[in-house]
Amino acid sequence: MLDGKSALVTGAGSGIGRATALAFAREGAWVAAADLTLEAAQRTVAAIEAKGGQAVAIAVDVTDDAAVQAMVAAAVSAFGGLDCAFNNAGIAPHQVNAGGVLMADMPEAAWLRLLEVNLTGVWRCLRHEVAQMRQQGGGAIVNTASVAGLVGLPGAAGYVAGKHGVVGLTKAAAVDHAKENIRINAVCPGYIETPMTEESKRRRGDAITARTALGRFGVPEEIAEAVVWLCSDRASFVTGSNWTVDGGYSAL
Ligand code: NAP
Repeated sequence: MLDGKSALVTGAGSGIGRATALAFAREGAWVAAADLTLEAAQRTVAAIEAKGGQAVAIAVDVTDDAAVQAMVAAAVSAFGGLDCAFNNAGIAPHQVNAGGVLMADMPEAAWLRLLEVNLTGVWRCLRHEVAQMRQQGGGAIVNTASVAGLVGLPGAAGYVAGKHGVVGLTKAAAVDHAKENIRINAVCPGYIETPMTEESKRRRGDAITARTALGRFGVPEEIAEAVVWLCSDRASFVTGSNWTVDGGYSAL
């Protein structure tokens, strides 16, 4: 589905990003795997190469604009262009010591950090990717939002606000850049088994699966399939949309 295309993934060292980097490569893309640590990105590159794919590892902190610009430049220099991008790096409330904290009790620093990584980080990636794609005549981008971008979740106000922001940013960016032949969509995962959800699975896994129509957590590969399709030419009339892949969580 992606033969001859180049694809960039942030958060590629773990979870959904890693599975999507592998799926991009399986579908024929050259992959630029970017993550906070070079080692994590390199592990994904090694897995891609072990299956005969081509990939490069890039270290990036999406809160650092110069690093994001350099990431896009590195992907372009490795593969001669940028056809697809998956802006997926993100953090959960418990990673800023705000897991389960009610909105009014949340420290400002935790609020700002969640928005900085999860929303502004996506905006930074988008603007540098669009700058490249408009020069080469088009491209396709997917941002990772969440069911938390569609409904409220308890004790997660900063995360929910950031993910609703990603849904809005995706629509606005899609409208702004459609005439430049750049498609921009979001994917909204439900609860997926990754390092990010290990703690919530331990604490309230039963409640989450009971609340999910399909009665289980998803696996990262199930998100990757939607992202591959959205980035492929088969989705040529799809832009500004949110793809919910949540086992029916938001349908209940
Ligand atoms: P994950 O396994 O923790 O992977 C996230 C990756 O992003 C990690 O490799 C992490 O690096 C990296 N990262 C964190 N901060 C970064 C930064 N400032 N710059 C660059 N990379 C950074 O989590 P995941 O579950 O795959 O989550 C991926 C995305 O899906 C996130 O946006 C998350 O909000 C979203 N999501 C997840 C679920 C779920 O149930 N898992 C549901 C809905 C949405 P470190 O490990 O070094 O911190």
